[in-house]
Amino acid sequence: MNIERLHLPLEPNGHWFRSEARAEAVRIDGVLLLAGGTPNCRACGVYPSARVVGGVAEVEEPCPDADGITTTVTIEVPSGKLLVSDSLRSVFSIDHDAFTSLDSARGQAQVIEAMAALGCAFGPATNCDLGLFRTGPDTYIMARPEWDEDDTPSLADSSRMASVCTDLWAYSCADFEHWQARGGDPADLDWSDTVVDVAPGTYRFVQHSGERGFDFDGPGTVIFAHVDRIS
Ligand SMILES: [Zn+2]
Repeated sequence: MNIERLHLPLEPNGHWFRSEARAEAVRIDGVLLLAGGTPNCRACGVYPSARVVGGVAEVEEPCPDADGITTTVTIEVPSGKLLVSDSLRSVFSIDHDAFTSLDSARGQAQVIEAMAALGCAFGPATNCDLGLFRTGPDTYIMARPEWDEDDTPSLADSSRMASVCTDLWAYSCADFEHWQARGGDPADLDWSDTVVDVAPGTYRFVQHSGERGFDFDGPGTVIFAHVDRIS
């Protein structure tokens, strides 16, 4: 019996794999068989099944999230005090096991929606100079500013309302009084927690990090979320 191990090109059928992703296969007496699973998809989060077709590993089921996911949620900020933080998980906790893997756009969207249902606007980011910037009377962006050649951020410091430590690769925002009512203690806040004065109302967070082609480390200002008061 002649056994040869090899890696086949992977036809993703819309799923998001790393560009160099291959499928392990064996050729036994001339017959090609897949020898392992596919990587997990960074859009829908599943490990899709594949079959060998003409020397290529073809994923059978198309990706339901091939176009990526823009996640829109709202939170209430009746106090007009928006707490901006790297993590508010001690107060707003969810069971991550109930969701798809967080390294996929689908899993992130599920967590964003579950956190928003508790009153917390959560969003993934990268390890960067993340901040909340005012762009208009009732509009903001959660973004990493572009730095020019003078090492000056392109978004004026005067528009920066908060800086977020990104050791946890995420941000969280909530109404300050709502956070306190759920047990949050202002004595526990540190430099990465800022209370921003905003107009009281309902705030919409449109998270872009799950969109197809979103470049976490891209050139220019990277906007993770648009934030605006809708009522
Ligand atoms: Zn997929």
